[in-house]
Amino acid sequence: RDALDRGLLRYCPICDGYEATGQAIGVIGADTHGVAEALFLRTFSDRITLVAHEDFELEACDRGALEEAGIAVAPSALDQIEFSEEHVTLRLADETELQFDTIYPALGSDSSNALAQQLGAELSDDRCIVVDTKQRTSISGVYAAGDIVMSLDQISVAMGHAAIAATTLHNDLRKRDGHTR
Ligand SMILES: Cc1cc2nc3c(=O)[nH]c(=O)nc-3n(C[C@H](O)[C@H](O)[C@H](O)COP(=O)(O)OP(=O)(O)OC[C@H]3O[C@@H](n4cnc5c(N)ncnc54)[C@H](O)[C@@H]3O)c2cc1C
Repeated sequence: RDALDRGLLRYCPICDGYEATGQAIGVIGADTHGVAEALFLRTFSDRITLVAHEDFELEACDRGALEEAGIAVAPSALDQIEFSEEHVTLRLADETELQFDTIYPALGSDSSNALAQQLGAELSDDRCIVVDTKQRTSISGVYAAGDIVMSLDQISVAMGHAAIAATTLHNDLRKRDGHTR
């Protein structure tokens, strides 16, 4: 919590990447998530290092994209994280120490979709709820909004979805009750 408050640990580059502009940034996670997040953050800083949280062989195309963007790849996997007043030190399995102004874990996330599964709502490949343009799910009378609908996890997106869902719900109920206008 303390590291979060001091901006040493960050979770969402879409939310606060600009606050890390020009900083030495460590991105933890070496699979598709890690590579994508490191490339996303490259817009904000040219001092980015991808650090694998476990032994991992990068795909050739990912390694090429990182090289082209000037993103460093740590020589071995992460062993320990230490937060000081102003820096984050990552100790690697080969005993290398890397110092950063901030770190972003990019380890993916799980969707809390148990309720949707119980209802039998259609889910997408990334475990989100499939909706139409009016936020209707595949179950009649059930609407969905926010992170569970699409993976651009932002408050503004969730609120937009909610406004659309509430209006559709209102109109669908009116239609159900026989109103034609
Ligand atoms: C660390 C962090 C920082 C972030 N920073 C920003 C930021 O700066 N700006 C920004 O725009 N966005 C930010 N986000 C993203 C933002 O928090 C989400 O996009 C937003 O909260 C989505 O709202 P939601 O209502 O869809 O989901 P949530 O806020 O996750 O709400 C869903 C709720 O449903 C509950 N729930 C789930 N399953 C069940 C069930 N079966 N029964 C009952 N309840 C259930 C959950 O407990 C939760 O309370 C951040 C996210 C994180 C994790």
